[in-house]
Amino acid sequence: FPHDIKKISPTVWELPVHYKEGMLVPARIYATEKLLMAMDEGVFEQVSNVACLPGILKYAFCMPDGHWGYGFPIGGVAAMDPVTGVISPGGIGFDINCGMRLVLTNLTHEEVAPRIHELVDALFNRIPTGVGCKGFIKVSQSEFRDVLEEGSKWCLKKGFARPEDIEVTEEGGCFAGAESSSISDKAIERGIDQIGTLGSGNHYCEIQVAKDVNVFDEIIAKKFGFTVPNQVVVMFHCGSRGFGHQVATDYLKLFLQVMGSKYKINIRDRELACAPFHSKEGQLYFSAMKCAVNMAFANRQVILYRIREVFSRIFSKSPEDLGMDMIYDVAHNTAKLETHIINGATKEILVHRKGSTRAFGPVMEGIPSVYREIGQPVIIGGSMETGSYLLAGLETGAETFYTTAHGSGRTMSRHEAKKNVRGKKLQQDMEARGIYVRTDSWGGLAEEAGSAYKNIDEIAESTELAGLSRRVVKLVPIGNIKG
Ligand code: 5GP
Ligand code: MN
Ligand code: MN
Repeated sequence: FPHDIKKISPTVWELPVHYKEGMLVPARIYATEKLLMAMDEGVFEQVSNVACLPGILKYAFCMPDGHWGYGFPIGGVAAMDPVTGVISPGGIGFDINCGMRLVLTNLTHEEVAPRIHELVDALFNRIPTGVGCKGFIKVSQSEFRDVLEEGSKWCLKKGFARPEDIEVTEEGGCFAGAESSSISDKAIERGIDQIGTLGSGNHYCEIQVAKDVNVFDEIIAKKFGFTVPNQVVVMFHCGSRGFGHQVATDYLKLFLQVMGSKYKINIRDRELACAPFHSKEGQLYFSAMKCAVNMAFANRQVILYRIREVFSRIFSKSPEDLGMDMIYDVAHNTAKLETHIINGATKEILVHRKGSTRAFGPVMEGIPSVYREIGQPVIIGGSMETGSYLLAGLETGAETFYTTAHGSGRTMSRHEAKKNVRGKKLQQDMEARGIYVRTDSWGGLAEEAGSAYKNIDEIAESTELAGLSRRVVKLVPIGNIKG
């Protein structure tokens, strides 16, 4: 625990520029004292390394769910000057546009409970899960390139999306300027049969209940679509699968080749490999990253299509009659050009968010018109045992370029969790507590035990105390398929 950390407020802690040689800006960690004390050392090391990256503006940030990651901490945020700054794949993550999507139903817990086994089993059969899983959509190479350039809009053309789905997806489900010529053949090969697949690890599709006692703000909850008591919703979490991983791998390799020799950038950690944003390599990666972002939006859209099919079949009603509207879809592994106010002036900057969620405040451009006055919906997972949150962005989020947490964050490594927990036993215990979970891998399930994660209530509350996002409703799990 660094002794020269400075308390700025009860939820903001600062490592000053003299903390480490080479820091260009201070590093700021958002957490209550309790959460700060529980953070692993890697967070302090990594967030202060990020503060050394060329062109970084204001601060390197870490959110309350932060923990050690590749290069950047998970929970990291860094905005770069697009002219003097760099772009770094480690600031985005291997699972480019890993994100969360939340879908309403008009069913109550009482209506769903008797069908939960049937429902979860059907989801498990219809949504491919596991490490090498393949999707049901067959596309040609040229069609896959359309997916990369069009994201959710491709799904709309193909009948996998409704126009309203696109409206409530961050950036309309498509980052503009994605050019598939920036993608390697190997990435295409890995991604071409992965549309509509959940993948493995902590990716999940969860059936949740908004219990009346867990509503923090009734007015906003109603505007987000919570209208019946103990309403059932579906939250799912996945990204760009092997495709995004290959994109990150390809460009990390390229950046390592040119960073020192061509661009004379010296960094503390190879994992922070980067290139000037405006360089040829930087722009190629930016374009490739957008392709992976769009692939992930399409992936989640096709999964939604299947979720609607499953509910429709089991409840013998159309998805429309079941009220299966999307609340929102938000990414937590991206870099994006956004307009923010820096030292009093409006400026376009490159915001890296790695395991952190955009949380635009009320009336900001970029929020769907239905939510414009409320603030952007923010979806954060907790764990398959404890619960998750729907929050909304706040004006005061300007401090972190309108960014908040993305989950609870791990306290235990996967390895440690597997030593402490038996997957099969965990499934039985959860079943006894009213959560029916299906998985491809008992070991994988053990790694995802609720006890391996920080307390989601503390994370959600700390983002509210810090003015980054306000709690709207806590959602508790009743069914889950795990990758
Ligand atoms: P990450 O994006 O870092 O891979 O994970 C995001 C967050 O999702 C984790 O920090 C964790 O809090 C949450 N999470 C992981 N597995 C589950 C799950 O099965 N259900 C829910 N509700 N949340 C989960
Ligand atoms: Mn992911
Ligand atoms: Mn994720």
